[in-house]
Amino acid sequence: MKKIFDSSALNINLSIGYLKRYSHMQICENVGYLVAPKSVVDLVENIRLATDLKLPIIPIGGASNILFGNCQNQFLILDQALPRTVENHDTRLIVSSNWNINALILNAAKIGLGGLECLAGIPAHIGGLIKMNAGSFGKEMATFVKKVKCITKKGEEYWLTHSEINWGYRHSSIEDFILAAELQMVPMSQNEILTKVRENIDWRRTRQPLTMPNLGCIFKNPPNLSAGKLIDDCGLKEMSIGNAKISKEHANIFINTGNATFKDMFTLIHHTQNTVKDRFGVNLDLEIEVIHS
Ligand SMILES: Cc1cc2nc3c(=O)[nH]c(=O)nc-3n(C[C@H](O)[C@H](O)[C@H](O)COP(=O)(O)OP(=O)(O)OC[C@H]3O[C@@H](n4cnc5c(N)ncnc54)[C@H](O)[C@@H]3O)c2cc1C
Repeated sequence: MKKIFDSSALNINLSIGYLKRYSHMQICENVGYLVAPKSVVDLVENIRLATDLKLPIIPIGGASNILFGNCQNQFLILDQALPRTVENHDTRLIVSSNWNINALILNAAKIGLGGLECLAGIPAHIGGLIKMNAGSFGKEMATFVKKVKCITKKGEEYWLTHSEINWGYRHSSIEDFILAAELQMVPMSQNEILTKVRENIDWRRTRQPLTMPNLGCIFKNPPNLSAGKLIDDCGLKEMSIGNAKISKEHANIFINTGNATFKDMFTLIHHTQNTVKDRFGVNLDLEIEVIHS
């Protein structure tokens, strides 16, 4: 067993302003509990506190798939100050869940392990990618996951194997906080990995509004249909409500053009769902998570 890289813990000031800046949509109305435990022991204490308070626990990784509204009645736990670790066992990596995927790809490339390049450019952490079974270029996170380590609400750690998890389109059945994962990587040269990373990021740059706050695709694609094309065919591209706007690059990606409120974004989402339903009879289900009560 060889440890290949470590990282230092962060000390962060947690406030509503912090979450607003950290979230990739840069929207948040209110927060009750927002913590970033620095160790698994601290994490367990926070999980216990949330359980005592009877508040739902919301793990947060890169915050690239969550629209935050009024979060007064949730207990938000950021993964970013937890210890960041990686162990290398032959062609497998055991990684803590708080690795940013892009940093992991680049570090793994140094030891000739690739495969995850399809996810390059997504501003997400491993835990969030697994929970959402994120995917791109025809591959999904599940393809790489051999095992996942979780922690229960009582603070007990356990492993789930790939086949003990139900994997679906942008969905996994994991309910608890994900601490770590064992990933099956593909032996490749560093050059080959970096070339693919560049190609994939260039592809994103030409098709996605990467410079504006967004959460990637808002809706799942209905079976055999493209949500973006349905929205485009309704003439909704570039429509705005307040400072929430449907991007011109990709009709399934909504952007915050500056100080959009939760209400602006939520109203735009509903308007889009209603318009597509009226015109094509198709329901658009959310791919993003909305935390609001
Ligand atoms: C520019 C951009 C491009 C994107 N491109 C893609 C794409 O190509 N393909 C794709 O599938 N998605 C894409 N997304 C959406 C998003 O990145 C993915 O859904 C990703 O999986 C979210 O990971 P995250 O770490 O940001 O999770 P978060 O947004 O923080 O959380 C998402 C969900 O995972 C849960 N979660 C987070 N961490 C943990 C944990 N440790 N344990 C248990 N649950 C956890 C959260 O509670 C929440 O339910 C994109 C987003 C952006 C902003």
